[in-house]
Amino acid sequence: MGNLETLREWVNGSDNIVFFGGAGVSTESGIPDFRSVDGLYNQQYDYPPETILSHTFYRRNTEEFYRFYRNKMLCLDAKPNAAHLKLAQWEKEGKLRAVVTQNIDGLHQAAGSEKVYELHGSVLRNFCETCHKFYDVNFIANSEGVPKCECGGDIKPDVVLYEEGLDQNILSGAIRAISEADVLIVGGTSLAVYPAAGLLDYYNGNKLVLVNKTPTARDGIADLVVQGSIGEIFSQL
Ligand SMILES: [Zn+2]
Repeated sequence: MGNLETLREWVNGSDNIVFFGGAGVSTESGIPDFRSVDGLYNQQYDYPPETILSHTFYRRNTEEFYRFYRNKMLCLDAKPNAAHLKLAQWEKEGKLRAVVTQNIDGLHQAAGSEKVYELHGSVLRNFCETCHKFYDVNFIANSEGVPKCECGGDIKPDVVLYEEGLDQNILSGAIRAISEADVLIVGGTSLAVYPAAGLLDYYNGNKLVLVNKTPTARDGIADLVVQGSIGEIFSQL
């Protein structure tokens, strides 16, 4: 039996699937993975993305942060792909308990998923740092310079920047879902960076599936490896 057939069988037989996804899930919707950029950014910006997207840089150079953020992090035309849609369908069918994602684009919710643990926050939520008033992504996209609240405060995206800690409630919810999962499908992440790699250690089952275009650092511990485009694979499940 081929690996794809095995995955299909595990999915069909489970009502407790958890999906854990990384940047590769979003790149198939046309959202660039800023961690795997070439020299492109260096032509337009004086700092690498990891520097610009850090808490220190945000505090010291907020306007330049927003120049990068509006140009590179807001992809408002992106649409959910076959993987997002299938996961939402499984949730409605009572097969999937949760999506845990490292992406900040809101595409899982756009596809209809409800139980989504966004480890790194979401560009769709933005709050005044002074009065905590909510602003949507269009307000940020259509503003210039540092977006300002009507109270005069700066507005900050609800996105976890480098140097900032993860939200402990979201993290513990993700850990609980993973630890209780029957089938854990991990997709679109090389599992090279924490917390991604560490979260897998909470899984207690024997159906750990890694779906990725290229081999990952953790293929050796997987019960099943399916190599290929995540959208193409999910469209066959
Ligand atoms: Zn305010």
